Amino acid sequence: MLRMQRVLMALAIAAPLSSATAQTTMMVGTASAAEGQKATGYLEVPAGVDGPTSIPVVVVHGAKPGKVLALVSGAHGTEYASIIAIEKLIERLDPAEVTGTVILVPLVNIASFEQKIPHVNPVDGKSMNRFYPGKADGTQTERASYLITKEIVDRCDYLIDYHGGDLDESLRPYAYWAPTGREEQDRISKQMVLAFGLDHIIIWRERPSDPSASRYLDNTAAVRGKPSIVVEAGHAGTVETDDLALLVNGTLSTMRALKMLPGEPHPIENPVWIEKIVDVMGEQLGIFYPAVKRGTYVEAGMKLGKVTDFFGKTISEPRAPVAGVILHVDALPTVKKGDNIANIGVVAAKAP
Ligand SMILES: [Zn+2]
Repeated sequence: MLRMQRVLMALAIAAPLSSATAQTTMMVGTASAAEGQKATGYLEVPAGVDGPTSIPVVVVHGAKPGKVLALVSGAHGTEYASIIAIEKLIERLDPAEVTGTVILVPLVNIASFEQKIPHVNPVDGKSMNRFYPGKADGTQTERASYLITKEIVDRCDYLIDYHGGDLDESLRPYAYWAPTGREEQDRISKQMVLAFGLDHIIIWRERPSDPSASRYLDNTAAVRGKPSIVVEAGHAGTVETDDLALLVNGTLSTMRALKMLPGEPHPIENPVWIEKIVDVMGEQLGIFYPAVKRGTYVEAGMKLGKVTDFFGKTISEPRAPVAGVILHVDALPTVKKGDNIANIGVVAAKAP
């Protein structure tokens, strides 16, 4: 019923347009917005070797012409704060105020959200941020990635990918900046990540440079010459006001830096730059008792907690292999071999 109404509204908007003005309508999936309008629709991922899915998409087509910014969230459908932040932005962004166009995708991974399953798309067991640029004849994750590449990455000028701590991750907010070696592109992406304002920024080097095997969404945009960043806030299923504010205000500030909204950005000055991430992994099944919190600064050798068997006997004491900041630590008592106990960010000796 709701979707039928959307189609009728889209027809009503499109009908009066002459051919001369038709090119000023922006259509992404089934969302079609004339200048000065906001429209909703879906990226319809067709059935293939497994079932179809419909990914919600919103187009905010500014009254003034300009660049296209894509905001994509929910590749991991239980990183809730990042999803709700995009919902807030859908409401907040006023086409009358916007220069250019904003494409918003609040939730890529519907099945993860629906079934409350972290990390992967339960339809095919794949992370929805590892299979870009996707495949038209692959599994659902690959078909969705293929459609997002064609419909969103290929048509935007800038991209922000939103994540956060998943159900089992207690995460402190941070952003990723991935220099490509292309000076102008890197200048703009750095301006974006500073304008976003998160106070810890990971410098992400050594990423795939092959456009046909770009893996990550933001990298798919980057290898196609489009400045892009990743931002993360939220943790362990929570939707806290502070985390939402970081993501919503950070987006608005970045849009101001890109001249897509009036007003001045609020760039972070002297952020903590992280030059390397070190994973600490579980060695066996047990119960994890953390001794550190997200954001704690640790020295090399510091105890991160203990793992016991089900009788309470300590079976391991994971320690920090390096000095740095706890970017995220396991939020749940469950730990098993290969689980991520903590990620430690090593602070860069100097700003890039
Ligand atoms: Zn994620």
